[in-house]
Amino acid sequence: MEKLVCDRCGFELTEKQDVFLALDGIDAWCNAQKARGQEPRGVFPCKYYFQCKGEMILITEKDARKRKKGLFGQDRTK
Ligand SMILES: [Zn+2]
Repeated sequence: MEKLVCDRCGFELTEKQDVFLALDGIDAWCNAQKARGQEPRGVFPCKYYFQCKGEMILITEKDARKRKKGLFGQDRTK
């Protein structure tokens, strides 16, 4: 499962169709940001961009598991 979360206000998009459409437009957003001299943080602007100036970050369940393992999976047996 994938979802998109705003990095400023926390707005979430979890509908498969919304995520799919967002990923489809990622190139357009990245090019637009680079044209303005800014590095894109996410895949497209938040729905509330004019208030929060946030960008939607793609989160996957796989990433979440990896982070957890990094916290607790360290090898300290020497
Ligand atoms: Zn936002």
